[in-house]
Amino acid sequence: MVRVAGTGRAAVTPLGHLIARRIAATGPMTLADFMATCLLHPEHGYYTNRDPLGAAGDFTTAPEISQMFGELIGLALAQAWRDQGAPARIVLAEPGPGRGTLMADMLRATARVPGFAAAVGVHLVEASPALRAVQAARLGAHAPHWHDSLADLPEGPLFLVANEFFDALPIRQFVRVGNEWAERQVGLADGALILGLAPPMPLAALAHRLADTRPGDVVETCAPAEAMVAEIARRIAAHGGAAIFIDYGGATSLGDTFQALRAHAPCDPLAAPGEADLTAHVAFAPLAAAARAAGAGASALTAQGVLLERLGITERARVLARGQTGAGLASHIAAHRRLTHPQEMGNLFQALAIHPLGAPPPPGFDPDQPKAANAHHA
Ligand code: SAH
Repeated sequence: MVRVAGTGRAAVTPLGHLIARRIAATGPMTLADFMATCLLHPEHGYYTNRDPLGAAGDFTTAPEISQMFGELIGLALAQAWRDQGAPARIVLAEPGPGRGTLMADMLRATARVPGFAAAVGVHLVEASPALRAVQAARLGAHAPHWHDSLADLPEGPLFLVANEFFDALPIRQFVRVGNEWAERQVGLADGALILGLAPPMPLAALAHRLADTRPGDVVETCAPAEAMVAEIARRIAAHGGAAIFIDYGGATSLGDTFQALRAHAPCDPLAAPGEADLTAHVAFAPLAAAARAAGAGASALTAQGVLLERLGITERARVLARGQTGAGLASHIAAHRRLTHPQEMGNLFQALAIHPLGAPPPPGFDPDQPKAANAHHA
């Protein structure tokens, strides 16, 4: 492994020591291995023990910023359910539900859609015991079922939302060297975690990236996300349903987007294993391709701001503004702006919908236009 970066600091957290010992014993680990260990280690993992959301935590998310987000996404899924003949029993699922806020807002907003609440079984896929407890307190009245994996969801029409979930899944990074690829790894030097490069080798899985990259470029892959989308799409193709994925990212991965956040501020991803949130931007084109390969349709990629405007956020914001004054009104207006403005979350966050080939995408999404999608690779 060739060293490319590092803090030079010894591993300071309990998990840092465990990781350093493992590397000393068995050699450098992939970024994916490092990321999964930091986030989900059964004892010291970042998500295992804590609720990282909100002002007192490390980051916040769209559903925590305003109830409008969950309301509009919920109504879009309910409309997709109606468009598909309102099946009598459906699986309403959310992987990575955080505090349960998005699901709570969806269920409240859709309670008035005739027949929807009676059709719904609520299913949550959550790895964190700490967050499962928060979700239980929030959603107990809806008797949710928890699962360790998407594969454990019951078969049936599947209506699913995932917000800021795929960005937490482990990525691998490769640096292009000539026409070969060197994987970025976490290694050890003088007791400190460092970032290094494995020897370059040709990689069939990245052959298609030789066309749109140059030597020195970094590309990221996220095989777990592709496998999860394939599982979701297979169910939607077989039984009907719809999925909405919202995350920060773009069509194709290019460049190093691996980042760590602690107390709302960026930090060195190697500095405090288990105590910082680790994420990477989501590349949506491979997810859409995985859905299509599994027999479902994938929408065009849509900016969050555009999606929320199409779903009627401005109307909803006006209604919620009635009767509000002072600081409450100001924060409501700021939340609307934060979710939709192109210089805030409006463009940074993108949305993709999966739907059966025989049904339209959920409201707010355009069907895919292959020509426009190809333009991203130019
Ligand atoms: N969707 C929520 C929370 C986003 S934080 C919101 O928008 O506010 C990421 C969530 O994904 C957390 O609930 C975290 O515990 C969960 N998570 C991360 N990796 C996971 C995995 N591999 N399997 C299941 N849940 C996971």
